[in-house]
Amino acid sequence: MQRYKHIVVVGAGSAGLLAGLTFQQVIPDGKVTIVRSPKIPVIGVGESTTPAMPQYLHKSLNIDVLEFTQQVDPVWKMGNRFYFGDQSRKYFDYSFQPAMEQTAPELRKNVMYYLLEGDMRGFCLASGMMEQCRAPFFRDPQGKLTNWSSFGYHIDNQKFLAYLEKIALKRGVEIKEADVCDVRQAPNGDITHLVFEGGGEIEADFFVDCSGFHGRLIKKVYDVPFVSYGDNLYCDRAVIGSWERDHPIEPFTTSISMKHGWCWNIELQDRVTRGYVHSSAFCSEDEAIEELKAMTPQLGDDVRAISFPSGRLERHWVNNVVAIGNSSGFVEPIEATALLVVTDQLKYVSKALLDSYGDVPDMMRDRECERVRAVWDDICDFIVAHYKFNKHFDTPFWKQCRSELSLGSATEFYEYYKEVGPSTLSSRFVCRDSVFGFDGYMNVLLGLKAETNRPPKMMDQDWNQWKSYAARVKQNSLQALTTEQAIHALSGDVKQGALVEGKDFA
Ligand SMILES: Cc1cc2nc3c(=O)[nH]c(=O)nc-3n(C[C@H](O)[C@H](O)[C@H](O)COP(=O)(O)OP(=O)(O)OC[C@H]3O[C@@H](n4cnc5c(N)ncnc54)[C@H](O)[C@@H]3O)c2cc1C
Repeated sequence: MQRYKHIVVVGAGSAGLLAGLTFQQVIPDGKVTIVRSPKIPVIGVGESTTPAMPQYLHKSLNIDVLEFTQQVDPVWKMGNRFYFGDQSRKYFDYSFQPAMEQTAPELRKNVMYYLLEGDMRGFCLASGMMEQCRAPFFRDPQGKLTNWSSFGYHIDNQKFLAYLEKIALKRGVEIKEADVCDVRQAPNGDITHLVFEGGGEIEADFFVDCSGFHGRLIKKVYDVPFVSYGDNLYCDRAVIGSWERDHPIEPFTTSISMKHGWCWNIELQDRVTRGYVHSSAFCSEDEAIEELKAMTPQLGDDVRAISFPSGRLERHWVNNVVAIGNSSGFVEPIEATALLVVTDQLKYVSKALLDSYGDVPDMMRDRECERVRAVWDDICDFIVAHYKFNKHFDTPFWKQCRSELSLGSATEFYEYYKEVGPSTLSSRFVCRDSVFGFDGYMNVLLGLKAETNRPPKMMDQDWNQWKSYAARVKQNSLQALTTEQAIHALSGDVKQGALVEGKDFA
């Protein structure tokens, strides 16, 4: 890296700390400073992740799995459980293990053909582990712990940030408390200095705007237009609370249909957080709190409200400033994708800095902006499908979702599904770069029981075969440890250094 000697990150939420750690690796001989406001708190949500987060932490940032497990107390997440669909089944699983095209010795057809009519749980090992409340850890024949792939984390935001901060400081990242109130710019528009409230400034070659929804640099200095998804995703607020754990730890995020939106359960080791994501156009904050409390009498007094915009910037990278995290875009949290985009952006921007030796050509920046726009739009379209096909309630909110929402880039895929039914051939209609891919889209369409004119024709023999398959999946999932057993075993085994990484870890 020839040019960059000093990179400054604004903000110390999850995005800012991950950015600090990433760019310290990009310029090991240079300096990285994180500037955070002593007055503006972090948003304090973002506790559910996809498998991209363990991969990024442990593979890209080389954060030790066992130390992380001991200090952050994560809960392993095998997928999402949705109380969505047409009510003919109570819930369906969205598994992190791609299973739709999976074949099995017992089965005549790929797994997906059995899911429209049948149960949509226990249909692959990850889904079986969700059903049996298992974590992705097994004992090998020698009694050593091995872990299994395709899991995300549930992480307490405070513990996560405290840990990332500790590692960042240890690796030489500087953290400075100051409010950025102005900037100084070069004639070409590059920022050269950040100016602090009350005096003082800092000079750097490259700036990363991780200031959350404030977008202190990208919006306030460069005035980049924000493209709202509000016409297609109506939810814009969440009321959030938690309670002390009163049931065994479930290895998944639960999403439950509500009158004016949906609500999450995120399982942490000591407590459960629940947030009702709703549309302020359809219900007041008081009504949302009332509905949340009615379904959760055990909720503590710590209920708080957060408003959020769903949308993205027209460009997240301008001159020598790149926005990462909520400053760059956000699509409501039903698939917990925000941190996935953070790690995705960090990977590409750091690669761009390395490949361009710190002198980023316009074309590289432009293509990266295009790519990130497509990532956000893809996430938006995928999430819209959750609303469009959910039939749990007939309130004005849900009626409008069903009649008005546009599936955007997913339209062709859905139309094919409607006409032809579930078919592996439809994989060619899902954009190759889609974060969710064919497997994700098919999992959700089948789970929601989106309308199709040709449901698969199944015979009694198929269902007998499915029974044998499901019994084997169940048996295999029961070999895994429960989350409680895994936590206990890990703290014991760590001392003996006996964790064996599974080949396809994370
Ligand atoms: C309701 C809701 C639920 C969510 N759930 C999930 C989820 O389950 N999974 C997921 O991946 N994501 C989720 N998200 C997104 C999540 O919030 C972000 O991924 C994550 O918290 C990262 O936030 P951030 O670091 O961009 O911003 P923040 O945490 O808001 O941090 C902003 C930082 O910028 C600093 N700052 C701001 N202005 C200035 C200034 N002028 N000078 C200096 N410093 C400044 C602040 O001090 C702070 O340190 C959710 C979001 C919402 C709204």
